[in-house]
Amino acid sequence: MINEESKAPRSAYPRSLILSFAALLLLASTYCVYLFVRVDAVTRTNNRRAPSVGRLFDLRSRTNDAVQECFAFVISGDEAEKRDFETWAANYEQFSRSFLQQAALDAVSREQFDRVLEQQHQIAGSGRQMITTYAQTGVVDRADFDAFEHDVDQFSRAMAVLQRQLESEWATSQQNTALVWHQTRTESLVLGAVFAVLSATLLFLLLRRFHAYDQLREKAMTSIMESNRRFRLIFESEPQCVKLVDREGRLVDINSAGLQLLEAEREDVLGKCIFDVIVEEDRERFIKASQAVLRGESNRLEFEIVGLKGQHRTMTTRQVPIRYGSDETAHVLSITEDITEKRRIEQQLKDHRDKLAHASRVNLLGELVSSIAHELNQPLSAATNYAFVLEKLASESPVQTAAIREHAGRVRDQAHRAAEIVRGIRRLLKPNPADNQPTDIHQLIESSLGIMGPDLRARGVDLITQLHAESLTVDGHQVQLQQVLMNLFQNAIQAMDQVERSRRTLTIHTVSTTEHIEIRVKDTGNGIESEDKRDVFRTFFTTKPEGMGMGLAVARSIIEAHQGSLVVEESTPRGTVFLVVLPLSGEFADECCESKSMHC
Ligand code: ADP
Repeated sequence: MINEESKAPRSAYPRSLILSFAALLLLASTYCVYLFVRVDAVTRTNNRRAPSVGRLFDLRSRTNDAVQECFAFVISGDEAEKRDFETWAANYEQFSRSFLQQAALDAVSREQFDRVLEQQHQIAGSGRQMITTYAQTGVVDRADFDAFEHDVDQFSRAMAVLQRQLESEWATSQQNTALVWHQTRTESLVLGAVFAVLSATLLFLLLRRFHAYDQLREKAMTSIMESNRRFRLIFESEPQCVKLVDREGRLVDINSAGLQLLEAEREDVLGKCIFDVIVEEDRERFIKASQAVLRGESNRLEFEIVGLKGQHRTMTTRQVPIRYGSDETAHVLSITEDITEKRRIEQQLKDHRDKLAHASRVNLLGELVSSIAHELNQPLSAATNYAFVLEKLASESPVQTAAIREHAGRVRDQAHRAAEIVRGIRRLLKPNPADNQPTDIHQLIESSLGIMGPDLRARGVDLITQLHAESLTVDGHQVQLQQVLMNLFQNAIQAMDQVERSRRTLTIHTVSTTEHIEIRVKDTGNGIESEDKRDVFRTFFTTKPEGMGMGLAVARSIIEAHQGSLVVEESTPRGTVFLVVLPLSGEFADECCESKSMHC
């Protein structure tokens, strides 16, 4: 974690200052470019002008050579001279054009050059004329000679003018260049100084900034590493198994406690699919729960694993989704506890409790039976005695009718007394309507399921409760009604012991009619054998080795005492449904009817 101290001090990062310096530097660079372009323009022009005068001399000397060749031909008749002149006459334009391209001429000198070119043209024409006449007549025609001489003279004048102009332009250009250099030198010096100061300041600021960044990075890295170390220490010292699993169920990280439970080394399990260690019966349920966590839910579930060395353990885990900045769950974080020992002790306690309850029920029944026997013994043995006397009296002669009648009456009295004792016991056992009170059936179901919770979990039974939307009240004896529900739940859970864990589901469903409430307790066990169906409500009927066969019989009599009914609604090899029907409490039934008629 990066704490407040590790934040960079603001003054060490004058970002706006750096930006201003950078902007000034950019401005100075732009001005520099402008200066360069200015100097470069005058220097270029100057450089092109420098050789122009020299080239002009070239041009003039070539034309002069051609004039000499023309004269030489008409004086000596040398054909070679004539050919040289004609070669010049054919090419002078091309030569002049290349001069134009290389030289840098102003508009005025350009005009003058056109005049020079015109004069060259004249020389070429008049020269040809003189040569032709000379070739025909063998003498030089005076008029031709004068024209040629005139053209040569004009050419020389035009050339002299052009030369002067070029020299003056070259001088002006040199002056301009010197002037620009002079002007820009001061600006360049100032600019150089500005550049140096700006660059040095910018460099200093940047170095300071980098230094501050380095310090910050170092601090942050140290802080992150410390935080990681702290996290690792906490992670590793956690006594419960803490693990991180990716979207595909692969193990990303696990602490030492987790490795101990899996009986594995870190490298054996990292990157491997965690579902493989879960026992087959629980695997699908576990995968479904993990998928729900990937969708953003959190959950808690109990399951069994087999460690890499084969040890079975019962675990309970809490899974939460982990997101790193985005909406999608990247990892599932699980904190898992080994409850094998806890479950074993719970089971042991339950077995003890069951045995105790069984023994106390047997004792109670024994006491009840012996006290009933004791109570009945008296009238029955009295009646037996009277019957014995009766027998004797009947065999005597003469028959003592009065005595027989008297003893028969005594037998009847004792029989009545015995019947009265039985009635008294029944009265004693019969629920007293005065104990009845409005009882919320849903609350009763919830609290009974709460008591059964450990049993449900231990046997891996999934619970589905589909309760009527409104609360339903009956007038009844809360304890007895709870006894009925617990008995039905207990039977249902035990009935599913024979089927595989993934198939075990207990469903509690309540609906209300206008006057009754219907409670259905549905299991997914193997059902009741068809020959047993009639007997399950009979006293002492049981198919369990430790059973008493009293539960359903007592349950039915309790329900009937509440003006209700208890039946097996359905029983197939896929499961059994017990149906309890109880009258709604008077007030509630009225409310139901009222709301129904309002609907109508
Ligand atoms: P006990 O549970 O002591 O056997 P009960 O009267 O509660 O006594 O049950 C009687 C018998 O009815 C049971 O032994 C069992 O054979 C059968 N029984 C009760 N509930 C179920 C059930 N949900 N599924 C299958 N058989 C059942």
